[in-house]
Amino acid sequence: MSEWEKNVRKVEPYTPGEQPDFTDMIKLNTNENPYPPSPGVIQALKETAADSLRLYPDPAASELVKALAGYHNVDPDQVFVGVGSDDVLAMSFLAFFNSKKPVLFPDITYSFYDVWAELFRIPYHRPRLDDNFRIRKTDYFQENGGIIFPNPNAPTGLEMDLKEIEEILVHNRDVVVIIDEAYVDFGASSALPLVSRFDNLLIVRTFSKSRCLAGLRIGYAIGSPGLIRYLNDVKYSFNSYTMSRTAIAAGAAAVRDQNYFEDTCAKIIDTREWAKQELRKLGFLFPDSRTNFIFATHPSCPAEQLFSELRKAHIFVRHFPQERIRDYLRITIGTRTQMEALFAFLQTYNRTIRQ
Ligand code: PMP
Repeated sequence: MSEWEKNVRKVEPYTPGEQPDFTDMIKLNTNENPYPPSPGVIQALKETAADSLRLYPDPAASELVKALAGYHNVDPDQVFVGVGSDDVLAMSFLAFFNSKKPVLFPDITYSFYDVWAELFRIPYHRPRLDDNFRIRKTDYFQENGGIIFPNPNAPTGLEMDLKEIEEILVHNRDVVVIIDEAYVDFGASSALPLVSRFDNLLIVRTFSKSRCLAGLRIGYAIGSPGLIRYLNDVKYSFNSYTMSRTAIAAGAAAVRDQNYFEDTCAKIIDTREWAKQELRKLGFLFPDSRTNFIFATHPSCPAEQLFSELRKAHIFVRHFPQERIRDYLRITIGTRTQMEALFAFLQTYNRTIRQ
């Protein structure tokens, strides 16, 4: 190793799901929304005058912050926005997890958390999910330097009861607790009502799933004004202009188009519940998802093999090689037509492996 290399901050990066580019593909691998952004968003994109792009955007992204504050019925100083929730989460790790005690998150969860912890040299401990893939609240009653988990959890899709989240908060008044609600709009309960009672609770959300805007990169956090102030201090020490003019205008339009948002979520929930029945008929087993994906395993077809066969047919799902979950595939809920194509493939495949 050369001298300069010894001082490089070495990290093992997160591996995002692949973004293949086939015209005939069915893309069910990164939990994107299969529906287009709302008509208001398309309009806002057209109206963002190209000429205005020579000017810097509003560093506070006030239009988007105000739209979100109005939607969630909180004050604008309780809202922080960023370049996708990954950006919001990374800044939160940097701002709030600064203790010598370990930050806690589950052994099976969003696999970016340990990457940020390593990057920022934050000690962490990953309590094991129980055998049904549920988070055990008591694991989070031990001493720690902060807590983070998604609710519903990813990639299991399982929701934790709000009462249990409240108990975790009651046991952890001296650290910041982050609930990553990336998937909450698909039928789960939000911990937002607890924000007024716990000034150490931060809720993180994204526009990538329920608001059909993964390509624009918008995420946000809601918490007490104190938490948001600390997040802004980190942001302004890093990059004042994280949100582009386009993202601010289109994001605000997406929030205003509430009917479209509700209809889209309802369609996905409907397709998901139907997909559960179809998977069951084929012998798949899965935790009861409250998200826009299903985490499924089959007693007689190895996940990795099925993943490759699907891939050959240009049907993309996600497989994680991690221990305990390598027999599972995470299948994003697409349109009804896309899911029908998936099930047509699985039916044929099922017959072949039974022969
Ligand atoms: N949290 C969880 C649990 C996720 O699954 C994802 C999507 N990969 C994210 C956060 C980040 O989403 P985005 O950066 O697109 O907002």
